[in-house]
Amino acid sequence: VKPLHGERWHMFNIENVTLSQRRIAIASALKEAIEFDQLSLFFQPQIDLNTGKIHGGEALLRWEHPQLGHVPPDLFIPIAESSGIISDLTEWVITQALIYQKQITAILPEHIVSINISAKDLLRKDLPVLFITLLDEFKLNASNIMLELTESATLFEGVDIKNALNDYRLIGVKIAIDDFGTGYSSLAYLSKMGFDEIKIDKQFVMNIEYSKNDQTICRATCDIAKSLGSYVVAEGIEDSQSMIKLQSYGCEIGQGYYFSRPLAFDAYMQWLEHHLG
Ligand code: C2E
Ligand code: CA
Ligand code: CA
Ligand code: CA
Repeated sequence: VKPLHGERWHMFNIENVTLSQRRIAIASALKEAIEFDQLSLFFQPQIDLNTGKIHGGEALLRWEHPQLGHVPPDLFIPIAESSGIISDLTEWVITQALIYQKQITAILPEHIVSINISAKDLLRKDLPVLFITLLDEFKLNASNIMLELTESATLFEGVDIKNALNDYRLIGVKIAIDDFGTGYSSLAYLSKMGFDEIKIDKQFVMNIEYSKNDQTICRATCDIAKSLGSYVVAEGIEDSQSMIKLQSYGCEIGQGYYFSRPLAFDAYMQWLEHHLG
């Protein structure tokens, strides 16, 4: 094991480091995260709102650094994307998610595993090959894999993404548009890409009980999805009232603290076993 870079952490910990110094420190710490076994993959269940049954789970990356402690993905994923480290992270996430999916499908064969993919990852030609290899090795059903693609500028830069999506479609892997409505979505784009799933961001769900605007947005998203032949997942459901509202709009799948927080893999397996009865 390599010694830790004491000086760098000393520099990082003093309070008045600039934002760019923080980013550099995080980027270089992140480079070692895989090697030093600091990453883990949590799962948050997704529930079929019509039947109450388990639909699947979203894989969410966690990073525990010995000095920095828990670094939230909202902080380190953008740094990973801009520094190029995202490629290695994504490969690690995909591999780990499919290893886990293999174990999950032993108790729940129809379980859908959702994996977050950066728009930049889509331009890589080797990722579809990685999927083919892993799906074959683990004898997994491609149609039980959902890639969650966050809206971003890159995603809207043109025809490349459509080609990339076709590579995944040929394999049979499904594609979701994540954080729908928060970014760059245009309706024309939505129609052209033909996403299998539309994911409503938690910012529209958290206050749905008392925000008329959020109700309107959620209802409209469900209507659009239905017309386009996609189904809808709502994240950030924290209480039964929100769930009932979304259900009444025709939202098929729910995810949020009301059902469960993201869980470490062992805890997720226990949760599944418990809920399978
Ligand atoms: P996301 O894809 O929108 O994931 C949903 C986030 O909402 C997760 O945060 C989840 O823990 C949180 N969440 C779920 N239900 C609730 C709820 O009821 N209430 C509240 N307050 N929050 C809820 P998390 O795990 O911190 O991840 C943040 C973001 O980091 C993700 O947002 C995603 O964009 C990114 N991310 C996480 N894992 C990965 C990964 O493996 N690869 C990539 N590229 N991005 C990832
Ligand atoms: Ca997601
Ligand atoms: Ca996202
Ligand atoms: Ca979101």
